[in-house]
This record gives sequence, C-alpha cells and structure tokens, in this order.
Amino acid sequence: MVNQMQNVKDLKSYLGGQWVWGSGNPQNLYNPTTDEVVAQVNASALDLRPALDFARKEGGSQLRAMTFAQRATLLENMSKTIHAKRDELIEIGRINAGNTRADAKFDIDGASQTLMYYANLGKTLEDFTLMTDGGSVESVGRGGRLGGVHILTPKTGVAIHINAFNFPAWGLAEKAACAILAGMPVLCKPATATAWLTQAIVEHLEPIMPKGVLSLLCGSAGHLLDCLEMQDVVAFTGSADTALEIRKHPNVLAKGILVNVEADSLNAMILDPKAEDKTYDAFIKHVHTEMTQKAGQKCTAVRRILVQEEMVDQVIEDLSERLSKVVVGDPALDEVNMGPLSTRAQQKAALEGLAQLQTSCDIVWGGPEGKRLGVGAEQGAFVNATLLKARDVGATSVVHQVEVFAPVSTILPFKNVASAIAQTSFGQGCLVNSIYGDDHKFLGQCMQSLAPFAGRLVVVDEQVADQALAPGLVTPQLLHGGPGRAGGGEELGGLRGMKLYQQRTAVQGNIPKLMRVLGIESKASF
Ligand code: NAP
Repeated sequence: MVNQMQNVKDLKSYLGGQWVWGSGNPQNLYNPTTDEVVAQVNASALDLRPALDFARKEGGSQLRAMTFAQRATLLENMSKTIHAKRDELIEIGRINAGNTRADAKFDIDGASQTLMYYANLGKTLEDFTLMTDGGSVESVGRGGRLGGVHILTPKTGVAIHINAFNFPAWGLAEKAACAILAGMPVLCKPATATAWLTQAIVEHLEPIMPKGVLSLLCGSAGHLLDCLEMQDVVAFTGSADTALEIRKHPNVLAKGILVNVEADSLNAMILDPKAEDKTYDAFIKHVHTEMTQKAGQKCTAVRRILVQEEMVDQVIEDLSERLSKVVVGDPALDEVNMGPLSTRAQQKAALEGLAQLQTSCDIVWGGPEGKRLGVGAEQGAFVNATLLKARDVGATSVVHQVEVFAPVSTILPFKNVASAIAQTSFGQGCLVNSIYGDDHKFLGQCMQSLAPFAGRLVVVDEQVADQALAPGLVTPQLLHGGPGRAGGGEELGGLRGMKLYQQRTAVQGNIPKLMRVLGIESKASF
C-alpha cells in the first residue's frame, strides 16, 4: 500500500490475523543514502492484548498439535518463500538500510539458510511432539521401577522477538526458526528504522503460515511488555540500555518472564606472533571483512585487534593496503563495496563513539570523512572505514568500554600471551573472540583462558586458513550469544536454540509406564 506521500510505503502490522494501522501520527523510515523518506509505520494505540491472545490460542494450539517433522516442513516452506523473493528483498535492503547487494544477500540468504538448517534438523526429530533433555532415565527408588525423566515441552505463550536494526531478515528468521520448531508462535518486533524488509518478508510468508503463528509489530513497542503473561518468552537483540529496561520492566519481573538478551560486544581478534604465513593472511583478510561488511554494523564484528608490539607496524601496513580498496558510496553503484550506516542516528552515535576512542587511541588509517561515490558531500549516513591504534590498553581504557557500531576497529599492542589474554577479558564478555596462530601452547593458553569470556571462540591455523569463515559469520549449528556485556544470552547452536522456548520438567514415577504414556519408549532422548 502506498500512502499520500508519493512512493512512501505504509508498513502495516500483522496482528490477530489481520493487517492493521495505528491511529496516531506515523513514524518515518529513511533511505540512509539519500535521506529521503521511503516508508512509514504507525503502531500507536494498537491494542496488543487481543493480538497476543490470538497468537497464544490459535497459533500456539496449531503448532503444538504438529509433530517436529510437520513444523520442519513449515520452516522449509518459509525458507523457500524468502529465497523466491530474494531480488525484491535485496532491493528493499538497499533502499531502507543502505545495503550493498553483497550485504543484503548476507542478511537475506542468512535468513533462508537458517530456516532451512532448522527444517532439516526438525526432520531428524521425526513424528514426536515432545523431547527429553538428553539426560538419562534417573532411578530414585530401590526397585528400579521408580524414577524420573526430564522432558521438554513448548511453552504455551508467545515468543516475543525484539530485534535490532542491522539484520531485519536474519534477525526475524534465526529467532523464529527455533521458536516455531520448538512449538511456540512468534510476535516479531523489528527495529523501526529498518522494518520494511521484515515487513515485506512477513507479507510474503502470511499466505503459508497457519493463523497466529507469525505476528508482526511495525513501530515502537508501546505497551507490549505490559501485556505479557508467564508462559511468554522475550528474545531481545539490541543495546544494553534497552535490555536493562526490558529486564526490569515491572510486569516482566512480577511474572518471572524469561528474557534472553543479545547485546553489545567488543569482540577481539588475537594474532599469535609466530603465526604461519597462511594464518597471518587469513587474519588480515578477516579483519578487513569484519570492519567493512555491512559497514561494520554487525554485533559480531571485530572491535579490538590484538597484535604483539613488534608486529603492529606490519599489520597496519597490510590492513591499510586492503582498506584503501574500499569504495564508499551509493550502494546502487556496482563499484561501491561499502554503503552508509543504516540511519543518521547511528552515524551520529558512531562519530561520537569515534571521538571517545580518540581520547586514548590514534587514527592510523582512514577517518570519518572521505570520498563518497555517487552522493553529495552532506548526503547520507556515511562513516568511512577507520583503523585506530590504542595508546592505553589498561583495564579502564575507553577501548574496552565503547562499541562503535560502524567500520571502526582498534589495534591493541600486547607484550606477551598473558597481556593479550588480560586485555581481551577487559571487554567484560564478548559474542565471539578469535585466535589466529599455529603454536599449540599459545592457542591452548588463549582458549582455556578466554572461553569463560565468550560465547564462541574461532581458532584459525594454517591447515584451515583457506576455508575458515570470518568470525563475524554466525552459523545456526553453533551458539550465538555471550556473557556479561554481550547480554548473557544464547541463541541457535542447533537443538540448544530451542531450549529457550521449552519448559524442562522432571517427570517422576513408574518409569516404564511414564515412557509408554509419554510416547518416548523407543527414543528416550534426541
Ligand atoms: P535498541 O535501540 O536497543 O533497539 C533494539 C530493539 O528494541 C528495537 O526493535 C527497538 O524498537 C526496541 N526497543 C527500544 N526500546 C524498547 C522498549 N522500551 N521496550 C521494548 N522494545 C524496545 O538497539 P538498536 O539501535 O536497534 O541496536 C543498536 C545496538 O544493538 C548496537 O549498538 C549493538 O551494540 C547492539 N546489537 C547487538 C546484537 C547482538 O546480536 N548481540 C545485534 C545487533 C545489534 P524501535 O526501533 O522501535 O525503537
């Protein structure tokens, strides 16, 4: 639907099985390359209570009646539907989020591939409707008959998915895949600034979804958290400040509603000074990818690059050579390989963050200003790729505190492995840390010491250097999340990603009978 402002798309919400529009003033969404208004949302005065009840009753009961294999088929169809609309969705990513074609594909293909991964995983769970938690049958009596088993059943509420602006497609899919396979209906609330892509996907999915299984709120959250019930779950991705607001919301606290948080992260990449050439090359390549892909707007992008003091100049030279090939500008142009940030607000926050970093770091390549292809000097939310070197790497340095959500990373010189480990841990919890090296002792020390500070550790040596994925790529097989500053949450990781949406219950009694009644005789655990 196009409203009275020419070519401005009205993004309705999909609630209670209907497309709805609020009654207050709409909020604008922009093209961050041109600053033009491209779409509007309006969620004001929408009554979310009946919408959530509808999702719980209609969506929840339909999903719980389905076997894992049937839910898997639904995910497969979702994946195929998104893939079939790929080109249209890529174009929306360009217009509303400033994505280059490659960046938009990263988001959209990530969405369809994650859904397909969970579809395939779901098929292995066959025609069951509940799971055990993988633990063995526990005997609690003397005779062997009396015992217990832990079962996992879908919660009967709604999975509330509140997403960040940077992955409007993947953010929807990675959370929905786990919830739907577990048997919970979803209400997705994308970040307003880039909601168009999410909305377009839900429009395409609507005809294939059972009613109530997938709802969409376009616009601010309003009274959403006031309407939650104890069987609902919140999975949030975004800033630590908003996470705190959600966690301490009176209704969330009073009803003990589970909240999973993916928040900020000062991810580190560590280079072993004795790394072989192939390992070193992968390190340089991956730093470049992490700094520039999606204009550095990935929660998993590298922010701190740890390099032994003697190697710093070499690393700066090699990174500068790569960064000098980055062409910033209008993502519609083929020559451009880095677009703007998603919004003017993000640009302002990034420039402020960069100024903060400069209180204890020096710019060694780039800087916020620079040439932009195909756009005017004052136009758009652009920030150039910028590499800094820290003067202060101590625990209280700003480099361990400030996440600049842009193509901005800092080199931190270290003396020895112990100081590299200490500096990495000063980040207070990361989504992903990565270690590039070949020396067993160096790798072993880093892995042992850093595992408690990260949800994922990526280790690259010369034998996997050619095929290694850049650490910022989140795969559905492995966990996404991290302790402390990163939010303390866990998503994905195969079956682990479903646990948020399931209640674990210890069922105790006459074991053979329990197994028969629950229908888990033949397959006590998955
Ligand atoms: P944000 O301002 O915290 O917003 C995130 C989401 O929360 C949006 O959908 C937002 O809706 C919603 N929201 C805001 N206030 C809310 C409230 N009181 N109740 C319920 N929902 C509320 O974060 P952002 O600007 O989108 O993202 C910026 C930061 O997120 C980045 O700097 C990065 O650190 C972090 N991030 C982390 C990850 C990760 O996986 N760990 C991924 C991406 C980003 P509106 O847009 O309508 O305000």
